[in-house]
Amino acid sequence: MEFNIALLKGDGIGPEIVDSAVAVLEKTAEKFGHKFNFTPYLIGGCAIDATGEPLPQETVDGCLASDSVLLGAVGGPKWDTLPGNKRPEKALLGIRSALGLFTNLRPAKLYPALKEASPLRADIVSKGFDLMIVRELTGGIYFGERGYREGKYGEEAYDTEAYSRMEIERIGRVAFDTAMKRNKKLISIDKANVLETSRLWREIMHKMAEEYPEVEYSDMLVDNAAMQLVKNPAQFDVIVTSNMFGDILSDEASQITGSIGMLASASLGATTRGMYEPIHGSAPDIAGQNKANPNATILSAAMMLRYSFGLAEEADCIEKAVDKVLEAGYRTADLLGGGEGTPLTCTEMTEKILEVL
Ligand code: NAD
Repeated sequence: MEFNIALLKGDGIGPEIVDSAVAVLEKTAEKFGHKFNFTPYLIGGCAIDATGEPLPQETVDGCLASDSVLLGAVGGPKWDTLPGNKRPEKALLGIRSALGLFTNLRPAKLYPALKEASPLRADIVSKGFDLMIVRELTGGIYFGERGYREGKYGEEAYDTEAYSRMEIERIGRVAFDTAMKRNKKLISIDKANVLETSRLWREIMHKMAEEYPEVEYSDMLVDNAAMQLVKNPAQFDVIVTSNMFGDILSDEASQITGSIGMLASASLGATTRGMYEPIHGSAPDIAGQNKANPNATILSAAMMLRYSFGLAEEADCIEKAVDKVLEAGYRTADLLGGGEGTPLTCTEMTEKILEVL
């Protein structure tokens, strides 16, 4: 099969980690007989330097014309003093909205070889965990009506949460389909004991569950979910939740893995085109030093194969190669965390993965 991939390398360690992921994608294409065509576009600080804009129109058009988008990271101290709408990070919201990406998929997996990095107790991490958060990305309180008004106690600020049936149904569909591709267990997280939006959310999820008899479905209140994630993360497979709850819970879930350089993400819309990126930023402190851990970007590329191109076997192959390299004891500096051993450079880690592939 042949696919066109837009590359948004961005700033800081962005170019190093995207180059690593491209090498892994090329090796995978060679192994399985596919063809991936890569076209780079500017985004973030490098785009500001070249064109004055963090998200040039050419980048938007190029991404819209591609089958999928792989992003490194944007931002850095050089552009920190620019006004809000001219900053590199502004390009992220712009590109997500231009591509109509309403779903965020954030896996949080504990690699047995890296379990020491987790802040959780040994008896909790010994059970392992591998969960996927499906977060609604373009609705809810972050996009609702807001402002200031005169209230009961004088001036007050307000934000409103609104969810339409359409928005809940489309994120529910993604969540059930994702559960079908994994271990067929879905927990929907809401605050239905208080919020009207959560009651509608729950009603729609229950109805949809009838269409997916193979999926073991249940509800959980968000306050309980925040506790359960640190008490017993092994109980989760797929989680579906609203924009704000997903924002908070996905950061909690990534923190319990303890390894920011390992965490991938995907943003999806109504088509198969998605945007795939590591959850970390541009790491200006190590940029240009060949020290970055490329795995989060490599695993994001694997997600692209699975969720945008339907190449599950190829995605499995990349994920297993990363597992094997870690199990063999190879570590970039961030994974050693000051412990013993000689860290691999970004290029060396990539080469180890290519060898296994
Ligand atoms: P960061 O994630 O860039 O870095 C936090 C720490 O983690 C640093 O010590 C860094 O060296 C380390 N780190 C991150 N990724 C790593 C990797 N792959 N390998 C090894 N170590 C890694 O967060 P920050 O320092 O808060 O932000 C730096 C810049 O990135 C800022 O300009 C911020 O706005 C931007 N940012 C961009 C994105 C994005 O592009 N999606 C996300 C978050 C932050």
